Amino acid sequence: MTTETDQSPNLLQTARNQFNNVADILGLETGLRKVLLTCKRELTVNFPVQMDNGTAEVYTGYRFQHNVARGPAKGGIRYHPGLTPDDLRALAMLMTWKCATVDIPYGGAKGGVVVDPKNLSQPELERLTRRYATEISLMIGPDTDIAAPDVNTDSQTMAWIMDTYSMQKGYSVTAVVTGKPINIGGAEGRGEATARGVQYVIREACREKNIQLEGAKIAVQGFGNVGATVARLLAEDGALIVAISDSANGLYNPQGLDLKNVTIYQQEHHSLAGYPNADGISNQDLLGLDCDILIPAAFENQLNGQNAGQVKAKIVVEAANGPSNLEADRVFHDNGIFLVPDILANAGGVTVSYFEWVQDLQSFFWNEAETNRRLNTIMSKAFGEVHKIAQERKVDMRTAAYILAVGRVAEACLTRGIYP
Ligand code: NAD
Repeated sequence: MTTETDQSPNLLQTARNQFNNVADILGLETGLRKVLLTCKRELTVNFPVQMDNGTAEVYTGYRFQHNVARGPAKGGIRYHPGLTPDDLRALAMLMTWKCATVDIPYGGAKGGVVVDPKNLSQPELERLTRRYATEISLMIGPDTDIAAPDVNTDSQTMAWIMDTYSMQKGYSVTAVVTGKPINIGGAEGRGEATARGVQYVIREACREKNIQLEGAKIAVQGFGNVGATVARLLAEDGALIVAISDSANGLYNPQGLDLKNVTIYQQEHHSLAGYPNADGISNQDLLGLDCDILIPAAFENQLNGQNAGQVKAKIVVEAANGPSNLEADRVFHDNGIFLVPDILANAGGVTVSYFEWVQDLQSFFWNEAETNRRLNTIMSKAFGEVHKIAQERKVDMRTAAYILAVGRVAEACLTRGIYP
C-alpha cells in the first residue's frame, strides 16, 4: 500500500474525543476509561542499517499495542517520514475498535519506521525491514501480535518480516503477519478485501436508505488500492462511477466513467490528467458533487466543518481511515446524510487478515469465493448491529459503531478483571 499522506497533528486527540463521547454514553467508570485510553505496551527501537555506500544510518521504529483483552494484537506497519508516537497511539486504538466492531478476536496495534522508503534502494529497504522485524520480535508473534501492511509497506515487506521471524525461530511461522504473498500463506481475496467490505456495507446502506445501487451515482476520492477496486466492484453492481480522483487530478463524467479505459490510460500516462471522455474536477469539487454516494478513499481529514456542508451525497462511506472529523459528522447528521464510519466500512481488510491468520494456523486454505462469502456474513452482521444501535439510541452510525466496539472491549476487560 502506498498512501501519500501526512499525518494529522490531532489524530490522537480526535481518537480520544471519540472514545470519551462514547464512554460517557456507556457510563464507563474512570479507571476503565484510563485503561482504554492508554496503550498497553509501547516499544521504541533505534537501530542501524548498512546503506549501499557502506555507511550506517540509524532509524527509529515503533510497535505499540493498545489493548489485548479480546485476543492478540493486530495492526499494520507503516513507513513514513512524519510518523509520530501519538499517531501510532491513535491508530492502535482505532484498530482495537475496528476489530471489536466486526467482532473478530483481536486487540489493536500499530507500528512503523520513521523513513521515506522512496529514498532507499530495494536492498536497503530489505535490510531495514529485517532489522526492524528483529528489533520488534520482542512483541510480534502469531499468538501475541500479528502485523500487516499499511502505508508504504506491502506483501513483500510482510514476506521479509515473516522470513526474518521464522529464521530466528528455526521453523516457518506464517501466521506472524498477514497480507503475505499467496505462495507463502497469504489468503485468496486479501488484496481486494477492504474494497469488497466497502461494497458489502454499501449494499446494506442502500437497502436501508431505499437507494437502488444499480444506476446510483457514485464519486470516489482516491483512485488507489481501495478506491479503484471499490469503484470497479460497484460498477459491476451497475452503479455509475461519475467521478474519481488521485492526489493530483480528478475526472468527472455524469454519464459514468469507463473504468477499464481510465485504468489503461492511467497506467500508460502515469496520471489521470488529460483523459478524454471526462472533464477535470478538483478534489474539493468532487466532494461536493451531486451524487448518491460519496466514498472518501484517500486519507484522513478530508471532510471538516468548512466543507462538509457542501456534500450533496445521501450516503458517505468512509473507505479511508479518518476522512471526516467530528465537525463534519455533526454537519452530516444535521443535513440528514447517512455516514458509514471507517471502523465499520473499511473493516473488510482486517477481517480477511483474520481469515488469513486462521488459515495459516490450521494450514488449511479456502478459495476466494469462500473468503468473500464469509466476509459478506461478517460485514452484513456488523452493519446490522451498528444500525440497530443507531436507531435504538437515536445516534449517528459512528457513535453507534463506537458504542458497540467500546462496549465489547470494556466488557472483556471487566470480565477478565485486574491482575493480580
Ligand atoms: P493507496 O496509496 O493505494 O491509494 C491512495 C490514493 O489516494 C492514491 O490514488 C492517491 O493518489 C490518492 N490521494 C492522495 N492524496 C489525495 C488527495 N489529496 N485527494 C485525492 N486523492 C488523493 O492507499 P489505499 O491502500 O487505497 O488506502 C486508502 C485509504 O484506505 C487509507 O486511508 C488507508 O488507511 C485506508 N485503508 C486501507 C486498507 C487497505 O487494505 N489497503 C484497509 C483499511 C483502510
